[in-house]
Amino acid sequence: VPIQTERPDRPGRAEASLLAAAVDQKANHQVLFREVNERIAELSGEWSDTGVSLFVCECSDPGCTETLEISPDEYERARADGARFVVTPGHQQAEVERVVADLDRFLVVETVGAAAAIARSNDPRRHG
Ligand SMILES: [Zn+2]
Repeated sequence: VPIQTERPDRPGRAEASLLAAAVDQKANHQVLFREVNERIAELSGEWSDTGVSLFVCECSDPGCTETLEISPDEYERARADGARFVVTPGHQQAEVERVVADLDRFLVVETVGAAAAIARSNDPRRHG
């Protein structure tokens, strides 16, 4: 019986190693939650009669389940910079983030240092 050499060519491998190479797991978590919000923004663009949409908190706590009421305009402004995230007031991380806007219902924070590099390199709005 010939020995079968299985080569598990798993899709998404490059993606996984990219994540593993990243220095800050919390930053990766934020990037993932931002992707969720990008989907919400897409959907609410189609159903834009309520004024505000419910977005998920983009803080670095993996267990956070807070939602944020944000209008499409507010969300677009926050998304203009790839290092910025929207979080529930109090969920900012003073060591790695600075608050750039306080809109009462939510904060816009900008990550600094390594976390900012990860955030910008994974910016869903970056074209080319
Ligand atoms: Zn949070």
